[in-house]
Amino acid sequence: MHNFSAGPCVLPREVYQQAAQAVLDYQGSGLSILEISHRSDDFLSILAEARSLALDLLHLDKSKYKTLFMQGSASLEFLRVPYNLLKTEAGYIDTGVWSSKAIAQAELFGKVRLMGSSKITQYRTIPELVLENSSLDYLHFTSNNTIYGTQFNEVPKVNVPLVCDMSSDIYSRTFDYSKIDLIYAGVQKNIGPAGLSMVLVNESILGKTNRVIPNILDYNEHLKTDNLYHTANVFGVYSCLLNLRWLQNQGGVEAIEKRNESKAKLLYETLDTLDFVETYSDMNCRSNMNVVFHFNNKSIDAMFDDLCKEASVVNLKGHRTLGGYRASLYNALDIESVHVLIEVLNQLEKQV
Ligand SMILES: *Cc1c(COP(=O)(O)O)cnc(C)c1O
Repeated sequence: MHNFSAGPCVLPREVYQQAAQAVLDYQGSGLSILEISHRSDDFLSILAEARSLALDLLHLDKSKYKTLFMQGSASLEFLRVPYNLLKTEAGYIDTGVWSSKAIAQAELFGKVRLMGSSKITQYRTIPELVLENSSLDYLHFTSNNTIYGTQFNEVPKVNVPLVCDMSSDIYSRTFDYSKIDLIYAGVQKNIGPAGLSMVLVNESILGKTNRVIPNILDYNEHLKTDNLYHTANVFGVYSCLLNLRWLQNQGGVEAIEKRNESKAKLLYETLDTLDFVETYSDMNCRSNMNVVFHFNNKSIDAMFDDLCKEASVVNLKGHRTLGGYRASLYNALDIESVHVLIEVLNQLEKQV
């Protein structure tokens, strides 16, 4: 199958095999990974390696940054971030549905200043930023906008702590990661199976609000307890580790970025030559992870759907708020799948 799902999405075959094996018998222990304690030596070593590799792959300084595997997914970080960081006023950049959801949660805790919005272009663009204000508690942005297929080319330059939702492009490209003080991501788009979020945080920005934070929502509490405040998602963390190891074996983020660039380039180039296709996002902020397009005549959809089915190309449906199609090209999607999709589009051209 050629799975272009936007998330949860395709992971490497060898990750599935190793995870499946661990469910049956974790490393010859006679026990399933599903039945071992989160305080067992086996899991402690899984967690330590995963937390460490998560930073190494992005070349983040371990004397500053710590990794947390959190339960509740990116949507819970929308809340956890302002709970931990917002004292009076935070800046947010509005680039669509996900950032709007983050903004709505921040407004529960303080003032939100909109530092840029691409709403007037229906989120086809990345906005120009007005970033002179230096009294903000932090600035939040969404580096890749999964629904519209837009992506920040650069990290915004600010003199306040920077927070980024990188759910759909973390580990897919090189980026100025060390300029960001708190990176979070739902893991289901390049890191592992759904149900967790990963938080990479520069510890020095925490603990400044004087707010009483319930333990489970307090990043500091999770750090103090070495990410074992409560029962960990043992299987989820292990699967993330397998995936991070796979990425390291591929040559890390630098190598995967090159492959991701070629995949996206191939597909955009094809779409651009077809006069019955329109891509959604502006040329200069096209995402390499999510390629959003539609046909200029609705009657083409059914033909395309049939051809996809025949070619085992699945999960191309656009987000329900936008319609059309979206091909997600995450790390584990092989370039072969892109070739198959392009072949489908070429066949379609003959029928249109
Ligand atoms: C998918 C996604 C989310 C939501 O993640 P959940 O794990 O479902 O909470 C948030 N932000 C971005 C950019 C996403 O792509």
